[in-house]
Amino acid sequence: MLEELFRLNEHQKKALKKLGIGSVETLLRHIPSRYASFNAGNSIATSEIGSEASLVVEIKKIETAKGFRSRIPMAKGKVSDPSGMMDVVWLNQPYIARMYPAGTTVRLSGKITERNNKKSMVNPVIHNLEDDSAGGMFSGTEVSALVPVYPETRGVTSEWFRVAAEKIIKKKLHENVADPIPKEILARYNLPTLSTAFVWAHMPKKRSDAEAARKRFAFEEVFFIQLDRQISRKEWEQNHAFTITKTRLDLQTFIKNFPYTLTKAQEKVLADVLKDFSSGKLMARLLEGDVGSGKTAVAAAAVQAVVTTRPNGQNFGTLQAAYMAPTEILATQHFESFLEYFVGSGLQIALITGSGCRKFPSKLNPRTWTNISRAQLLKWVANGEIPILIGTHALIQKKVKWKHLALAIIDEQHRFGTDQRKSLVDKSHTAPHLLSMTATPIPRTLALTVFGNLDLSLLDEMPPGRLQIITKIISPQKRADAYEEARAELVKGRQMYVICPRIDEPDPKKELAIQAKSVKEEAKRLQKEIFPEFEMGILHSKMKPAEKDKAMKEFVAGKIKIMVATSVVEVGVNVPNATTIIIEGAERFGLAQLHQLRGRVLRSTHQARCFVFSDGKSEGTLKRLEHFAKAKNGFELAEFDLATRGAGDLAGGKQWGITDLGMEALKNIKMVEAARKEAQTLVETDPQLLKHPNLKSHISQKRQKIHFE
Ligand code: ADP
Ligand code: MG
Repeated sequence: MLEELFRLNEHQKKALKKLGIGSVETLLRHIPSRYASFNAGNSIATSEIGSEASLVVEIKKIETAKGFRSRIPMAKGKVSDPSGMMDVVWLNQPYIARMYPAGTTVRLSGKITERNNKKSMVNPVIHNLEDDSAGGMFSGTEVSALVPVYPETRGVTSEWFRVAAEKIIKKKLHENVADPIPKEILARYNLPTLSTAFVWAHMPKKRSDAEAARKRFAFEEVFFIQLDRQISRKEWEQNHAFTITKTRLDLQTFIKNFPYTLTKAQEKVLADVLKDFSSGKLMARLLEGDVGSGKTAVAAAAVQAVVTTRPNGQNFGTLQAAYMAPTEILATQHFESFLEYFVGSGLQIALITGSGCRKFPSKLNPRTWTNISRAQLLKWVANGEIPILIGTHALIQKKVKWKHLALAIIDEQHRFGTDQRKSLVDKSHTAPHLLSMTATPIPRTLALTVFGNLDLSLLDEMPPGRLQIITKIISPQKRADAYEEARAELVKGRQMYVICPRIDEPDPKKELAIQAKSVKEEAKRLQKEIFPEFEMGILHSKMKPAEKDKAMKEFVAGKIKIMVATSVVEVGVNVPNATTIIIEGAERFGLAQLHQLRGRVLRSTHQARCFVFSDGKSEGTLKRLEHFAKAKNGFELAEFDLATRGAGDLAGGKQWGITDLGMEALKNIKMVEAARKEAQTLVETDPQLLKHPNLKSHISQKRQKIHFE
């Protein structure tokens, strides 16, 4: 336990707990995000503002203080070298004033910034040169040390981690941590053992050692995820599977009813699915396809194969299919598309959402649907009379019981939590075939890793006749021109989305309120000042389901010409006549999300336009947006996002449970493939990991849950 090794104050205890650090191992696994190197030639005068520097200086003056408004405790002072003076501040680290009194010679490593027109450093890594063997650097020749810099955390400093890791390593405690990676694997890829990697990460003598250590930890992370997914897959395949032997020919009549012919890509994916159905093993397949690539039609054909198959040994009834979508709008839209696909089939189709249930066909009028009670719906699903149930997550409530659930389709799967996805496939005692669909463009290495338990099918071809969308980044001066271009389309009878990042006007009293455009205010403004001649509607997540439904219906029917909305429309909504989209505050959206928004207007053969309004002035933002404008498909954007991901960009991998280090590994396809191959071989030859007890205990700690993506 760490508390036996270190005296920890309350702030430190809290911070460490938040980081999940409570043992020698977890502390050592918190590795530096980078290393500052001492550069003998540097001085205060020659260091440029904005650059990273590591300077030998003398502390001239130092005191504790509190932030003027923030009341943050800090140490602040002045340091000098023969070339000049500089200010230094350590926020939240007032004790530095006590540890390094005036007159101490230290090395400071960090970024040179400008405060009050003076060169300064904020929170530099500090290293005492007076009681340190690295003092040899005064000779001015040798680059003798790399200073580890740990991710900044409130409560524990980089310096604390540096000292703590050193203490542990000097006591040789790091040698007691068992290495979970089998030796042969380490040897094959020339990776250091765990205890060597700890030393190289925390006290590197040279950069190549630090890099080798990082590589090992990165490999380990990807390897563990792969192993976890491979084990899930193995377990999944232990389940009994319905064998469905429909062929493409059996589906011909059904597919001929579509108002179009399937693309080659759709045919290919459908073939993948039919092959899985007949294999005797449970399907676990991810269908990835850009927005508008036609995933729904593939799903419908798969459902047709299922609901025309009788349960084993029964000459009545059919197998059942569930189709889950993340929003009510989308579930309702799928329900309506399915009515068209399945009309005349004699099959019953039902919809279940938070706001009610519907069934098709209605007894009174077989051409339309009717509202039914939840109790009734549940009864007919449980006794198998309703073979197709479409819905939101209302579909996974405990009360929903199935007779013969053979296929579970999860649309826009990234919008569901792992648990929600899992409860859908757990719905029947015999597990259903799983078809997970997503338009989230993710890089190949990431897909291979986080979806290692799924087979991948790609819809990499758009239905014919689609024009390339025109995307323009609009500077504030060109706003009016963009509105005129949009108006020209509206006059031709097309419709338009305007996407805003917020629902309400920001509270002006809230100091930090994001000054982003709000749906309500923007709709008012556009109606009054820009587009008085067009009917306008709004759509956002705080509206009641009935209101949303009404607004969406009026948009689908063409009554509403301009829909001002938050990113709720991001998900799958299909209105082919909407051909223009304006995105406000674009810098607030991720590239993948922007791409999905843009996909909303890619539904028809008319020329689509996307106008991107952004207040972001940083060069990075502009570059990102320009790339977005140019990229032809989501996969390309995803690769770009991954390649340009900086070390400080913490948000990216989080949704997949991947650290920054892991994301770094994902830039390296060779490493990912190696980790995947090793994991596969292990699970094939030793599924219980009996020969690798360290690995087994490590993995079982990590995987409390079975993941189903
Ligand atoms: P997504 O993959 O985003 O879910 P959809 O399934 O909603 O895409 O399909 C987008 C649009 O393309 C729909 O209007 C659908 O009718 C149409 N579509 C699907 N497949 C084809 C095809 N093979 N040819 C022409 N249009 C198609
Ligand atoms: Mg869709």
